Amino acid sequence: MPTNQSIPEQLNIFQYSSYQSIPPGKLAWITIKAKQQGKDPKMVHAGIKAKMSRKNYKPTSSAKTTRKRTTKKQQSIYEQLNLSDYKSYDSIPPAKRAWITIKAKREGKDPDKVHSQIAKKMGGSKKVGKKVSKKKVSKGVGKKKKKIKIDGCPSLIISTDKDIDNWSFKNGITRSLAFKKKGLAEFAVNVGPKCDNNCLYCFSGSMLFRHRSFKEFKRDPHAFGYAIVDPEISIKVAKDATRKRWDGARGLIELSTYSDAWCPSARKLDLGRKCLKAVLENDPKWTIRVLTKNHEVEKDFDIIKKYRKRVSVSLTVTSPVNKSKIMQVVEQNASPVKERIRVLKKAHRMGLRTYMMLCPLLPSIADGPKQIDWYIQLAEEVGAEEVFAEAVNSRGETFPLVFKEFAKKGYKNEAKAIKALMDDDIHSEYTLRLVKNVQKSMRKYSNIRKLRFLLYSNKLLSEHLKEIQKDDAGIKWL
Ligand code: SF4
Repeated sequence: MPTNQSIPEQLNIFQYSSYQSIPPGKLAWITIKAKQQGKDPKMVHAGIKAKMSRKNYKPTSSAKTTRKRTTKKQQSIYEQLNLSDYKSYDSIPPAKRAWITIKAKREGKDPDKVHSQIAKKMGGSKKVGKKVSKKKVSKGVGKKKKKIKIDGCPSLIISTDKDIDNWSFKNGITRSLAFKKKGLAEFAVNVGPKCDNNCLYCFSGSMLFRHRSFKEFKRDPHAFGYAIVDPEISIKVAKDATRKRWDGARGLIELSTYSDAWCPSARKLDLGRKCLKAVLENDPKWTIRVLTKNHEVEKDFDIIKKYRKRVSVSLTVTSPVNKSKIMQVVEQNASPVKERIRVLKKAHRMGLRTYMMLCPLLPSIADGPKQIDWYIQLAEEVGAEEVFAEAVNSRGETFPLVFKEFAKKGYKNEAKAIKALMDDDIHSEYTLRLVKNVQKSMRKYSNIRKLRFLLYSNKLLSEHLKEIQKDDAGIKWL
């Protein structure tokens, strides 16, 4: 461990041209390193920010351009990720291992091979890249099972059952730091790690991809057309709802964070309803935020009504009604937007609490000023207590499928506008436009205090960031 170096030196931070251009993973590492060294992370970040914003600041010669990071290619993955900081391969944290896989893929290398080479170099005892045969797993009834960790998701225990699409979670309720940061919820209940609404922009595949245990089962985490659910999830949720876990802490649960509790597979087993009951009937201190893209949630409005004060409902609205058919191209098994709106209105008529979730707002489909005005008026009409909005993530593995599918179905203009978001500068412009449109409509038709625009500052060009910082009412900086 190079203790004689400062944290920025250890992490090669001054290769970046500004604090905003430091990648999120690197920022997280500054925090981790500061904590490891008993320093206040806030102070360390502030020190770096101050140094990088000085007029005479110049990035180190190793990489003057942060966007292209050309010189990084000359370094091995081992060097790029500072793996010499670790004693052995086994001591590399899972998040860092995931980065090895990502980097290897980006550089067109075989991730398994790269992991093996690194383990060999570090003298790790772990057998990297070793495939676990399905036979071994399916035989594992009553034996030790494999775990996968995902934020807001309990460890996954690979099912011993013949059908690989049924998985067993270790816990029912888990903390979700990512959703807490977004102000959405502190806890999460998920009916499974993969839902079959088949939204082509879905990010859950990237989360599964990071878990080597999942990879061993040779299922493509980014593929669509299959779901993974835990048929017994509600039993575990009920158990967790009454347990003294987290020192008895209770709070807001999101149902769900990376799957839909009313997606076709979950519906067959009635998992959404069962989970609602498991939480609401067990401890009155729990509250729930329901988020779905399926109209069938209306069948469970009776329970929600019974516990009205403790539940807030939303059906994600991803386009205006006249574009409902277009969105069906990329949200293949979700209910048509028209249906979602009908159910949202019904929820309001029944006196249920509602909120609005506007994401993704795709360019040329849902991001124009008129469309945003329509959304916000709808939010008012359904009595939304809060309005969440977010720019679409164009860096997801499956994002190209979105514009390819639109192009295939003849929606050429939409495909072109969405494809353009792959360019970081265009994405930044689109985000700025979106923020301004949403703020304007909120001020005109609603109350800006209800707005929660989730925004990553490091994805913006500095001039756009400054523009938003001048008026960041309703922005939740991430
Ligand atoms: S509903 Fe959510 S979790 Fe399910 S496929 Fe769509 S984006 Fe993914």
